[in-house]
Amino acid sequence: MADPVILHCPACGTSNRIPPERFADQGRCGRCHAPLPPPAPGWPLPVDASGFATAVLHAPVPVLVDFHATWCGPCRDMAPHLVTIAQDLVGRLKVVTVDVDTNPTLAQQFRIQAVPTLILVRDGQAIDRFSGALPIQQLRNWIARGLGWL
Ligand SMILES: [Zn+2]
Repeated sequence: MADPVILHCPACGTSNRIPPERFADQGRCGRCHAPLPPPAPGWPLPVDASGFATAVLHAPVPVLVDFHATWCGPCRDMAPHLVTIAQDLVGRLKVVTVDVDTNPTLAQQFRIQAVPTLILVRDGQAIDRFSGALPIQQLRNWIARGLGWL
């Protein structure tokens, strides 16, 4: 299991301690609410509607999109897996997270009925999806099958 990380706010300098279950939506500084930078290359990147086309649809590599909600327990269970996978697959797969409550338009566009819903996108097209939490090995297998790596 991943350890908590410390993210320093670029705006006010506050040290934000991010526990593993918050990795997917580390988002903003607890003190001044400025956006926090991703802590490492390949970290799951929170995206919103304005950044979605660039971050997902036009990405040079396949993208795993995690539609999640802050109140969702299974989403928090999945968050550390997404970090592990994002870091293991740097350069081959990008992982982004979408908060369905703050991005209802994206949630509607992708017909999200439950959270978490994971969608694999390649060349701007959704190629596979599932809803619910999975153990990490099953998640890896699902990604590899979807992308033809198996
Ligand atoms: Zn701050």
